[in-house]
Amino acid sequence: MSFLIVVCSKCGGLFLGRAEQKTRTCPYCGSKVDLSKAKRLASAENAYEASKILRKLKSDAIQGEKSV
Ligand SMILES: [Zn+2]
Repeated sequence: MSFLIVVCSKCGGLFLGRAEQKTRTCPYCGSKVDLSKAKRLASAENAYEASKILRKLKSDAIQGEKSV
């Protein structure tokens, strides 16, 4: 079972989805996101790896905002 890190098409928030899922509700804005259409930033083999990648992507985004 693989996991995806996707970007919400509405609010731009990052969250995890399972590869076999078609849609996922964004935890930030509550909109239904079509995983086949959403932008995928990364994929992972398991939930642990996925959450690690997600944390890294989020911290990179925060650092990027601070340095601008
Ligand atoms: Zn959203």
